[in-house]
Amino acid sequence: MTNSLDNSGNVRAWLMPGLLLLSLAGCHLARERSVTNNGLPDRYAIELGQLIIRSDVPLQRDEPLLDELQDLREEIIATLELNSPRRPVVVHLFANEEHYTKYMRAAFPNLPPRRAFFVGSPTELGVYAFWGDNVEEDLRHEYTHGVLHASLKTVPLWLDEGLAEYFETTRGGSGRLHPEHARRLALAVSNGWRPDLSRLEKLEDVAQMQRADYQESWAWVHYLLHEAPDGSEVLVDYCQELAQTSNPPQFETQLRPLFPDAELRLTSYITMVLRTE
Ligand SMILES: [Zn+2]
Repeated sequence: MTNSLDNSGNVRAWLMPGLLLLSLAGCHLARERSVTNNGLPDRYAIELGQLIIRSDVPLQRDEPLLDELQDLREEIIATLELNSPRRPVVVHLFANEEHYTKYMRAAFPNLPPRRAFFVGSPTELGVYAFWGDNVEEDLRHEYTHGVLHASLKTVPLWLDEGLAEYFETTRGGSGRLHPEHARRLALAVSNGWRPDLSRLEKLEDVAQMQRADYQESWAWVHYLLHEAPDGSEVLVDYCQELAQTSNPPQFETQLRPLFPDAELRLTSYITMVLRTE
């Protein structure tokens, strides 16, 4: 997230007919302005299976970034044992921020200014971004939302953002560590802050989510995938629920029987492991 929470688009939006719902789990309701293709990138089109790129930037099919996104999709599917995505994700890649901003203001006047967006609708799972210094991180983040929503019936806000924050980082040798999150979390713990899954799960509106909530969401995902015994299995089982129902149980009810002291464990993970990575 680093800059992305402040400047960019760690925001997902769900477009319903006639309504624009910021985030799936409910939040702002706003009127949808008629969306036209005016201003959408259309100079180059590349279709790579379930990944479709429409761009005003000349991209080759073997562009490393496109390879990375395809690899990312496979990694997300493998990590969470998702069924193959049922729908493609369309990436609308603008040549520059000016064109992107102009389009977004016209098409989605009620969305806050952000560097990138994921907008899901019954007709398209769309990522909107522009070519710039942060394009790789932005696309990894927003495309993660796209893959999740292409595979699952619903994704709770904390998990949607936690996974997007997790997969926006480069894979590298540090196991998708997010140094900025890790540093801020360790500082917060030293100042007396403690994680609270129950509270986090109550957040249903992306506008409610503060930087600390993105950090905590990332920390839960990282802890479950890298440290907690059987943590991956709990997350995988929960994703299977999310593939079956739009009204899933709270994740806490799945986790608590295994880890009654989950918050204490996560606190230790933050101070003992993440801080020193
Ligand atoms: Zn996001």
